[in-house]
Formats: sequence, structure tokens, C-alpha cells
Amino acid sequence: MTSSLVTNIQGYSIHDGPGIRTVVFLKGCSLKCQWCSNPECISPHPEVGFIQKLCTKCGKCAGICPNGALDYQEGKLPHLDQERCDGCGICCEACSYKALVLYGKLMSEEEVFDAVKRDKIFYQASSGGVTVSGGEPLLQPQLVCDVFQKCRQDGIHTCIETSGNAAESALRQVLPYTDYILYDLKHMDSEKHRQYTGKPNELILTNARIAAESGVATLFRMPLVPEINDDEQNIKETADFLHGLGNNALKIELMPYHRYGKSKYESLDRRYLLPDVPYPESEHLESIKKRFESHGIMCTISN
Ligand code: SF4
Ligand code: SF4
Repeated sequence: MTSSLVTNIQGYSIHDGPGIRTVVFLKGCSLKCQWCSNPECISPHPEVGFIQKLCTKCGKCAGICPNGALDYQEGKLPHLDQERCDGCGICCEACSYKALVLYGKLMSEEEVFDAVKRDKIFYQASSGGVTVSGGEPLLQPQLVCDVFQKCRQDGIHTCIETSGNAAESALRQVLPYTDYILYDLKHMDSEKHRQYTGKPNELILTNARIAAESGVATLFRMPLVPEINDDEQNIKETADFLHGLGNNALKIELMPYHRYGKSKYESLDRRYLLPDVPYPESEHLESIKKRFESHGIMCTISN
């Protein structure tokens, strides 16, 4: 039996692969993209977020932390010391108002599969299924294989949402159980890739070739972040790269930059790294779509 830290299992998603899907967010990522909207999925360890606006200052969490990580003074908001917290979750259970939330619950493949199959009726009606996301699903290939194997046996369509920054062996291990791949391409300049995600892009591009050659349906996607990866040179180099992957890869989906995850940075007492980057306007998105099309790549814009 395999098990893994799961941050969330979200039903009824229509943005993470074909049809209506259940998305399993695994904890742990090998990149640190500055625009990441799931910062709670980056660390491979359990973490606690404090959602200030939900706290009533009731004091139920006072003195409860075995590590002395939570300081409560009457009438004031508690202070959570992330350095001392080991993610045991005791305080989260004590807080009736969900102001303290545990990111990372250990789940077996059986438990994940049970959660996924609950919505099978919706998958059948919409040609949907399960998507394992993160974090990076390829950091936990055995769990992905075990869950997908059960899904396949039950007729449930399987998809991974990956950055591609994982061992080639992990990708090759997961491919035979995978029906669909959502594959992110963030920047074609390796040094800029390192600057904005913490890692170069060579491994990602190698794995992209393996994914494209595998014959598994793959949708390449690009998180479009103004002033970071929306220049003509990057668009052209991305289009050229896709052409080099053959006919399985002549399409890209743009994912416009947003700040939906900003409150999660606050809950984890982390600094949001792109406060001044503007949202891409719809005219700008359309112009980038046209630029991809002018390079022979079909382009869509996600909602
Ligand atoms: S138990 Fe929850 S609501 Fe009460 S003081 Fe602690 S964090 Fe706030
Ligand atoms: S999760 Fe555990 S270690 Fe962390 S603050 Fe809560 S009680 Fe303390």
C-alpha cells in the first residue's frame, strides 16, 4: 500500500482536463514558481495556515501546542510560529472556526480512490475523470500509478497535471496508466526559467519530448505572466519547440496570470513575490493567441 500527503481533493472541476473532474492535490513540488497559486502544495511536509479573518479570538487554541508554536494572549489574535510548528494538526482540530487549517493529510491510495470514485456518475455524464495535480504528481509516481490503476479498472479517465520537472523514470512509470497529460511550459530561456521558478528547464523539455512521443494525449499549457514570459522571443521559441514535438503537440492553452492564491501566502505568513505584476488584459491575451497562431500553433485561453 502506498500513501501520500494530500492537501486537498476538489470535486466538480471543469478546468483541469476534459469534462467534470475530481482533482487530487498532492503536497510537494520541485519548483517554486513566483506566480504559484497553490503555495500550500510546495513543501513536502504538513503545514498549518492561519486564516486571520475567521479567527474569533475565542482562545480554544491557547496552550494546546506541544511545541510552543502557537502563542495566544487573551483578546488578541494568536501568533503561529511556522518554524516551530511540525504540522501535528492538534490546534486545527481544536479550532471550531476553521481559522487554523492543516495543509497535508496522509492518505493511502485506497482512500484517494474512494474519494475519487464517489463522483463517478459525473465523469460518465461529461467524459470527465480524475486529475492528479499538486504540487508535482511525478514526485510520487507510485501513488499516482496505484490510484490510476484502480481508476482504470473502474472505467475512470486519468490525467496528470505536471510541470515536468521530475525524473524521466517517474514520467515513464506513470505514462502507461495515464489517459491525458496537462503539461506546463513556463519559459524557454533556461536562465529565466531558473530565475522565476528556481530550476532550469532542460529536464522539463526532455520530459515534454517523452510525453509527446508516448502517444498519450497531451495538452501543453503556458501560465501567461505579463512582463515575465509574454515577449515575442519566448512565444516564438515555445512555438518552435512545440513544432519539434510533432503533430501531437501543435496546440497550447494560455492560463492567464491571477492572484487567487494570495490569501494562502498570508495564511502561511509568506511574502507574495509578484505584487506589482498586472493582470493580462483580454486584448493582450488575444494578441498572444494570434502570435501563436501566426507561428502555426493552435491556441486557446483558459477561463
Ligand atoms: S481556536 Fe481558532 S478561532 Fe479560537 S483563537 Fe484559536 S485560531 Fe482563533
Ligand atoms: S499543528 Fe501542532 S505543532 Fe503546529 S501549531 Fe498546531 S499544535 Fe502546534
